[in-house]
Amino acid sequence: TTFTDEARIALDTLSSRASSIFQSPSLRLGVTGLSRAGKTVFISALVHNLIHGGRLPLFDAQKSGRIARAFLEEQPDDAVPRFQYEDHVAALVDDRTWPDSTRAISELRLTIEFESASGWNRMFSSGRLSVDIVDYPGEWLLDLPLLGKSYSEFSRDAFELATLPVRTALSEDWRRVADTADPASDADEMVARRLAESFTAYLRACKLDERALSTLPPGRFLMPGDLDGSPALTFAPLPRLADGRARSGSLQAMMERRYEAYKAHVVKPFFREHITRLDRQIVLIDAMQALNAGAGAVADLERALTEILACFRPGRGNIVTDIFSRRIDRILITATKADHLHHESHDRLQAIVRRLADRAITRADFSGALVDVLAMSAVRATREGTVKQGRETLPVIMGVPLKGETIDGETFDGKTETAIFPGDLPANLDSIFEDGDRQLAPPIRFVRFRPPKLERDAAGLKLSLPHIRLDRALQFLIGDRLA
Ligand code: GDP
Repeated sequence: TTFTDEARIALDTLSSRASSIFQSPSLRLGVTGLSRAGKTVFISALVHNLIHGGRLPLFDAQKSGRIARAFLEEQPDDAVPRFQYEDHVAALVDDRTWPDSTRAISELRLTIEFESASGWNRMFSSGRLSVDIVDYPGEWLLDLPLLGKSYSEFSRDAFELATLPVRTALSEDWRRVADTADPASDADEMVARRLAESFTAYLRACKLDERALSTLPPGRFLMPGDLDGSPALTFAPLPRLADGRARSGSLQAMMERRYEAYKAHVVKPFFREHITRLDRQIVLIDAMQALNAGAGAVADLERALTEILACFRPGRGNIVTDIFSRRIDRILITATKADHLHHESHDRLQAIVRRLADRAITRADFSGALVDVLAMSAVRATREGTVKQGRETLPVIMGVPLKGETIDGETFDGKTETAIFPGDLPANLDSIFEDGDRQLAPPIRFVRFRPPKLERDAAGLKLSLPHIRLDRALQFLIGDRLA
């Protein structure tokens, strides 16, 4: 049976390769970022603008009128949930609320019919490109280093990190619970559950902390997808581990087995089935939140970005690309939500992201793919204006703050347009990248706005979602494939 099974799989692979040659060309675009970075909003806005012929002057194929149409098609992977584009757009456009965020992997196929710019390309191109957009939590990427770690190394590293000054208070409850556990005692499901729950509560507290500490592995503890409650997720680091092999039937042996199951059944398949098949990748970051939380949070974001980039490192020494030959050839690192700033600060935000990315690229020892950075807003919820204060004219942004948001003691009703002076990003980047927990002075004044009301064209039809520099992102990510 094993032989025939394997032969059948090999034949299947061959025949699917053969049939893919006759299908229209496709490109797999990964969209990732830590939770709430803006993945769902980005994908919804990108697809909406392409389907509805949005204003995209920096996206060459659209600007030169070479796109005949863009439409959704059935996705190629039947076992992956579909990205619920229609629900998300209904929330954004009809209800003017933000859609539900990414909680697990999902996929959407957008097909573009176009005319190539050059006569040569027109002769050979099919004039169709299917973009398979794969949305997944960045937290899951942070699991890659676990593949190279044993359970005892994982435990030791977890305790070391938990006792760093920024995390001691947050990890206190978990460490107390862990301290009562005896690795040599008999395995007990309830003990395992209590430890896993308290470890997860500590990871969650780091995430919710106002210093915006980035996530620690295992990534599924905070973003379980459909694995919530399964044994592969019911483990935790233990103190005082016995050297060598743990006694069979002990708590340590049970935890060790589950940790290995997590790697084998969760981490490896995710990389094998999804990450290694990507052609292009966009990484979204919430730089503004980190900037507002101070230098410590910026350093933390940089650490997460370094680890994320290491996952896409081509060539030797990368567990993923060592096994599989396909590689990502373009990566875009993007700070989204630039509509919270006046346009005068957009270039500064971009310079900050560039610096973050450059340092992360050096640290991750990453090179090979084309990498670019961008400050943008997938959905622009504000417009710009000026307000006179005495003799001064201040640049402001105007939008409808979400109901319940507050600034300077004022609470908003979710209906009234309000002018806000957001402040400027620092011109001196060095101050941001110093170590320590220093605050930016003064911080950016930040409220969450409602999605914008869509304008209508002369015929009364609603226009596509407004954005800032979404067209630049599109040009970098897929422009060359439509040339
Ligand atoms: P995900 O967890 O990465 O999928 O994050 P979402 O796409 O759900 O975005 C999280 C939140 O960030 C949203 O609910 C919005 O409040 C905000 N957000 C995301 N993108 C934008 C944007 O382009 N402009 C503005 N103003 N807010 C955004």
